[in-house]
Amino acid sequence: MIKILDARKKQMYEKGKGDFDLACEKTSLAGSVSQRACVFCGSRVVLYPVADALHLIHGPVGCAAYTWDIRGSLSSGPELHRLSFSTDLREQEVIYGGEKKLYAALTELIAAYKPKAAFVYATCIIGLIGDDVQAVCAKVQTESGIPVIPVHSEGFRGSKKDGYKAACEALFRLIGKDEITPVPKQSINILGDFNLAGETWIIKEYYRQMGVEVVSCITGDGRVDEISRSHHASLNVVQCSGSMTHLAKMMEDTYGIPFKRVSYFGIEDTADALYTVARYFDDPLLLRNTEELVRTEVDRIYPEVQRYRTFLENKKAAIYVGGAFKAFSLVKALRHLGIQTAIVGSQTGNREDYEYLKEICDEGTIIVDDTNPLELSKFMLEKDVDLLIGGVKERPIAYKLGVAFCDHNHERKLALAGFEGMLNFCQEVYSSIMSPVWQFSPARINSNLHSKWHRGSKDEAPEAYNQYVEDHPQAGTRDAANEGDMMNANWNKHIIDKEIEGERNERNNKTAVC
Ligand code: SF4
Repeated sequence: MIKILDARKKQMYEKGKGDFDLACEKTSLAGSVSQRACVFCGSRVVLYPVADALHLIHGPVGCAAYTWDIRGSLSSGPELHRLSFSTDLREQEVIYGGEKKLYAALTELIAAYKPKAAFVYATCIIGLIGDDVQAVCAKVQTESGIPVIPVHSEGFRGSKKDGYKAACEALFRLIGKDEITPVPKQSINILGDFNLAGETWIIKEYYRQMGVEVVSCITGDGRVDEISRSHHASLNVVQCSGSMTHLAKMMEDTYGIPFKRVSYFGIEDTADALYTVARYFDDPLLLRNTEELVRTEVDRIYPEVQRYRTFLENKKAAIYVGGAFKAFSLVKALRHLGIQTAIVGSQTGNREDYEYLKEICDEGTIIVDDTNPLELSKFMLEKDVDLLIGGVKERPIAYKLGVAFCDHNHERKLALAGFEGMLNFCQEVYSSIMSPVWQFSPARINSNLHSKWHRGSKDEAPEAYNQYVEDHPQAGTRDAANEGDMMNANWNKHIIDKEIEGERNERNNKTAVC
């Protein structure tokens, strides 16, 4: 039996049970093993996609383990962001200070890699020993002629959300440096997409087709020069509101650029995002282009989404993500697949976010703020979910419980934004839920999952099944007791895959003929 800590009870709510008064935006409870990361981690995820900048971590080498290899972000050009540098502070610097080492590392790295700018991240130990990072950065900036920006991201200063704020403040020091390069009136900045798997390119292509110029992406596939002139854009379009609203507000206050919060996940939210931008510029041609784009894309993907739905209808999902905005889109996207959201939570949601989540979720849905692995496991078992959508820290929870998993965080390798991303999402959810492997998970062996596999297809097409068994001897298992079940499960997946592949080929052929 899993017990909820008394001090955590106010941060969870089951829709339909009592008044809604969810506590949120609190520091994590000691001992509850929050899934939130440290301040440095928050600033790193926001800043590191700036691909032509140097990223130097001032602290012990362990903090620098948090590299591009763990959290990827694609670049269409330079890839300096893939290298992780650390001042590797040791006992001597902890006693006598690390400023000399920081100065030496910065000058050596700038000479070797010739970056367009440098970000220097202060970690916990810097907050304790009191190095004057600001002064060292200012000195190197004067000597090198490039912006050298301190990031005040000492890990213990708060949570990951405070790291987002530190990153926004660092980025703000870059903005406004380029006053010369002209920017057209119908122009935007994309804030809060990090191009983890090529999403920024999908979104930019939509705006290109609509006739809107993207001045800068902050920070997916980011470039220092583009960020320096981003203050000339007419509108900021903020996707990851948790991380980027602070920057959007600073740009609004200083440069008068309004901002709109959007999401590019799912069909409605992607369409809404594009229409929001089109309506802002109030240009008939732009609106027509947007309508055309949305119609074509929805016509293209919707039949396939419906097809996936036939296999996924009535499944149940748990969602636990960083920002609540993503959770909104996921609830809606899952609904297209006939999947009910049984549990939904975020690390950084605020009162307004959770109120909206309550509005869009079904009765009985558990809404949870800043949860931990034990709570999540308890709710997943109670609700008997088929799928968990989360990030790298949630993945083992799903696998240990024998539940399908969809990575919707910084570690993903599949673009999930835009209309194309919706199809990828469906494919990912389908592949994971329908995988035959779950029936052999010890945690699920006694559950009703086993029965969900028996769709009767073996009996409906015995000849094809026998042929499949002959052609795929590896699809079974050496365990004689499970041989038939495993083969049947693989067979089920095989025919479903074939059906979907057949439909896709047919549609591609039609497109080719047109
Ligand atoms: S909590 Fe401190 S020591 Fe740990 S990774 Fe973050 S900055 Fe480094």
